[in-house]
Amino acid sequence: MVPRVKGTQDFLDLSLYNFVIDRIKKHLQRYHFTEIATPILEAVDLFNRSLGLYTEVVTKEMFIIATADEEEPICLRPEGTASTVRAFIEHQIQSPWKVFSYGPMFRYERPQKGRYRQFHQVNIEIIGAKSIAQDVQLIKMLDRFFHEELVLNNYALLLNFLGCFDDRKTYQLLLKDFLEGPIEGELCSMCLDRKERNIMRIFDCKNPLCQKIYKNAPTIVDNLCKPCEKEWQQLQEQLSLLSISYAYQPTLVRGLDYYNKTVFEFVSKNLGAQNAFCGGGRYDQLVGQLGGKEDQPSLGAAIGLERLLLLLEPFKDQLPLEKLPALQVIMPLTSSQHSLALLLADDLQAQHLCVDILLAGDSLKSMMRKANKMGATYALILGEEEQKTRTVTIKNMTTGHEERVAQIDTASFVKK
Ligand code: AMP
Repeated sequence: MVPRVKGTQDFLDLSLYNFVIDRIKKHLQRYHFTEIATPILEAVDLFNRSLGLYTEVVTKEMFIIATADEEEPICLRPEGTASTVRAFIEHQIQSPWKVFSYGPMFRYERPQKGRYRQFHQVNIEIIGAKSIAQDVQLIKMLDRFFHEELVLNNYALLLNFLGCFDDRKTYQLLLKDFLEGPIEGELCSMCLDRKERNIMRIFDCKNPLCQKIYKNAPTIVDNLCKPCEKEWQQLQEQLSLLSISYAYQPTLVRGLDYYNKTVFEFVSKNLGAQNAFCGGGRYDQLVGQLGGKEDQPSLGAAIGLERLLLLLEPFKDQLPLEKLPALQVIMPLTSSQHSLALLLADDLQAQHLCVDILLAGDSLKSMMRKANKMGATYALILGEEEQKTRTVTIKNMTTGHEERVAQIDTASFVKK
């Protein structure tokens, strides 16, 4: 046996997955988002230029595909925002553009609960959205989805504000000064490395000693320029206005370089170490960075479907998942009734009934057992007698009641 690739999953029951996708599509359409789909294959350069050369996704986690020498290197997409922005620029779309897409993403990470090498995201983006009130609306839309559509309660919203790119630059210098102060000798080797390459990622360190030190680090919200300071206040006031509870988290920086101003994550204790099931924020310069004619202030979010499914699994029975259609099982008693069984099935299927035929030549008793297992509503028995008289014996699988009905009346009988 060749097992599945490490960090991938087989979905053998898609009922919950399909429920979530169906609900989010309807929810997003109500907020005037349009569905799009972009390719799974993209140029490596797209992510080098957007996510940042020193981010972990780019340095360690890309699935790069070997191509002929003269061709541009390509990869399996690790996230959705860069692709959406590429599509926006490539098709010369007018802003504002409110779109969503969903599908698999690929990152070469160490697999663990809630962390896979192939995982699925719903990506939601608003390209051309300057006002901070848009951030509030996006967060409210997500919160309403989790709370009202999926009836989740066991989560929290973490929020931080990274300011504009100038603020970030100033802050990074402040942070460097702090890290190079008296505490430098106490930092772990990974943090020392991050200090040089991608300084704000130090906050993701899992080492308790480093985390203790960072409690005293300068915060970016204390070092914002005047306009950003105003927007940060506005963000908090409008979130409260819409009754959204959130926790300010000064160490939330999110992994990718393109974020500025608002960043947020929805997290749940029930998920263990990989506790974020949705993350997002603003990326005001990404369109310009990827070759757009002018910058388009933008924002977006990605919902991690595997983690959302993990949260929902214990409450699955309380959700109105789509019910399977009632199944009718046709049982030809011998091979002489196979053609008749095909015809009857074809007639019922043409009338949109859900039908299966048992053609393995089993005894009636064994066919009944199988139909029971399959959850059949009715068994439609075709023997020599039924063939002669153009009838079918219909057995109600719940009550056990049997009735002989003309073959042409089968559909109307089972539909009753
Ligand atoms: P990111 O694109 O890193 O901002 O991630 C957005 C969301 O995608 C996270 O909050 C997770 O729910 C999910 N996610 C990211 N990486 C993985 C992974 N390796 N496996 C499963 N879910 C992931």
